[in-house]
Amino acid sequence: MLHNKKRLTFTLSAVALAAMSASPAHSAVVASIKPLGFIAAAIADGITPVEVLLPDGASEHDYALRPSDVKRIKNADLVVWTGPEMEAFLTKSAAELPASKNLEIAGLPEVKPLLIRGGEEEDEHEHDHDHHAGSEKSEEQDTSHTHHHHGEFNMHLWMSPEIAKQSAVAIHGKLLELMPQSKAKLDANLQQFEAELADADKHIGAQLAPVRNKGYFVFHDAYSYFEKHYGLSPLGHFTVNPEIQPGAQRLHQIRTQLVEQKAVCVFAEPQFRPAVIDAVSRGTSVRKGTLDPLGMGISLTKDSYVKFLSQLSSQYASCLNGA
Ligand SMILES: [Zn+2]
Repeated sequence: MLHNKKRLTFTLSAVALAAMSASPAHSAVVASIKPLGFIAAAIADGITPVEVLLPDGASEHDYALRPSDVKRIKNADLVVWTGPEMEAFLTKSAAELPASKNLEIAGLPEVKPLLIRGGEEEDEHEHDHDHHAGSEKSEEQDTSHTHHHHGEFNMHLWMSPEIAKQSAVAIHGKLLELMPQSKAKLDANLQQFEAELADADKHIGAQLAPVRNKGYFVFHDAYSYFEKHYGLSPLGHFTVNPEIQPGAQRLHQIRTQLVEQKAVCVFAEPQFRPAVIDAVSRGTSVRKGTLDPLGMGISLTKDSYVKFLSQLSSQYASCLNGA
């Protein structure tokens, strides 16, 4: 902004027109998905606004930027996203940003050792093998398709309290570079976020302790970080990508385990209530719950990340407890 003075004199009328007509070219923190926006909102509270690209109800696996999104990214002070293996829709726009304005959580050196294996391979395999009628053995041996898989790690990083903390530290660092005059507020915000997160972590640990050994299935493979952190006992997922229907073999395996009463719950998601869950659980005593992996109903405030984790915990507990 400061070094634009000279150009300003030449384009003043154009700028004034633009300010009156189109949306103002204001800067902000722009997060790809809501949970990252929650973390950013805690750190940027009272300093700069935070916006989220992915609308409620859209899938993090499958979104296309609108022209207005591209503009928001260009004008942002800072863009926070997981990385190209999760938000492929952001790869091109993020590459055009200066490094100081581009924060890719999966690329942080503090986050890399925390990544959990398990990517997107399974459903694509099932696709092929439904046609080839392949046995389980050939499915394992088939590596010819692995090259176009998305990656070797589960990228739902916002489910991890540890990675959330590292994300907050990184957002704080980036904003400090951009707005050193706000250091005192940024420091206070980070400190408060860390304290609230530690507190929520304790509460959630206590809430989930009684259900740690109860088996269940989730709709899509989004929860590994949360489940590992709190020692839960998932039996599997219907699909890796919620846009892709689970294969027949997967459904048969899940059905078998439900009939054998190995699971007490199956979890759908607010935007995905697929008929397959009803079909697979028909005639069994399994309970149906809902998990919200993106915090759909939660608005952006400085406390929203902690609310998001606590809501998830309550969603697990209420179904697994049978309350
Ligand atoms: Zn997902």
